[in-house]
Amino acid sequence: MHPIQMVDTRRQYLKIKDQIDAAVLGVIDSSMFIGGKTVNDFSENLAKYNGSRHVITCANGTDALQIAMMALDLKPGDEVITPSFTYIATVEVVALLRLTPVFVEVNPQTFCIDPAAIEKAITLKTKAIVPVHLYGHAANMDAIMDIAKKHNLFVIEDNAQAIGSDYTFKDGTTKKTGSIGTIGCTSFYPSKNLGCYGDGGAIFTDDDALADKMRMIANHGQSKRYYHDVVGCNSRLDAIQAAILDIKLKELDNYIAARTKVADFYDNAFANNPKLKVPFRASNSTHVFHQYTLTLEGVDRDGLSKFLAEHKIPSMLYYPVPAHRQKMFAAFNSEATDLPTTDYLTERVISLPIHTEMDVDQLKYITDKVLAFVNN
Ligand SMILES: *Cc1c(COP(=O)(O)O)cnc(C)c1O
Repeated sequence: MHPIQMVDTRRQYLKIKDQIDAAVLGVIDSSMFIGGKTVNDFSENLAKYNGSRHVITCANGTDALQIAMMALDLKPGDEVITPSFTYIATVEVVALLRLTPVFVEVNPQTFCIDPAAIEKAITLKTKAIVPVHLYGHAANMDAIMDIAKKHNLFVIEDNAQAIGSDYTFKDGTTKKTGSIGTIGCTSFYPSKNLGCYGDGGAIFTDDDALADKMRMIANHGQSKRYYHDVVGCNSRLDAIQAAILDIKLKELDNYIAARTKVADFYDNAFANNPKLKVPFRASNSTHVFHQYTLTLEGVDRDGLSKFLAEHKIPSMLYYPVPAHRQKMFAAFNSEATDLPTTDYLTERVISLPIHTEMDVDQLKYITDKVLAFVNN
């Protein structure tokens, strides 16, 4: 049996090694390391895949979120509604730009922001909502877009974990997550579903003016070479990463299918076990399984994770501390916010290995060990 890892980027690489090696060497040979045709081609292909008019590539997913918020002209003190149950990057950029994060509850089934909680948190200062499609499951975009329209708010989708997910609205139209809100953001961190071999990120929008502005912000606020109209930053995807991503983009749907097979195996093995709540899958969106996350009921989570580690099975807690309880937000007094569902989930979730290269013998071994501990 191959050693079990949370992600196995090496075995994934070996399957496309010839293409990748040729593409990387091609970039080096061209010596067009920054910008140029490779980056433009990838941006166009990604825009097509995602059904977005514009893609602006940048250095990482955190920058994507930051550039999006900078482009919306939000002012210090403006409120941005986000889940607390997310990776810190979502919320960190809010505080970095001197905006005020307003932490709200998630739905315990989808792990994504709860629309009813958004409505309750809206004030005169609210400017934007940041839904996170956590673990690869889409947030309830029907309700979120309705709320945004009603209150004239921007929607910035954090799609770092759900690229490739299809969301079908009540009216029957289907869109990719990340192409629904005012702006969508994603990350190409190596372990993400569309991962590069270093850092990378992208921003999606259908708005021409916003796209121009975000392109400018990502490039030192430059409108014309050495003419800088707004304060921006330096955030770019390099050509080597773009060349790798262009190859992997063609595999993304296969990668999602492979992840889904893993999730199906886990679901079957854990079906009807009252102590293991398997991930929910909404009927109107595709779960792309960036993570396979169980909610444990009456199981000693530390004991399980230790037991698995003793059998060379890694597992992870995403995330051990919710954002509103992080020290970095002490100034906002956010710890006083009452988020019982977020706390409940934080204490009970555990993520098992899931990636594109998992074998049935690995899955059988993992599920046997999980069940042996849980049913003991
Ligand atoms: C990975 C991730 C990010 C940040 O992406 P980086 O490329 O690491 O900066 C933001 N939000 C979520 C939900 C993520 O999972």
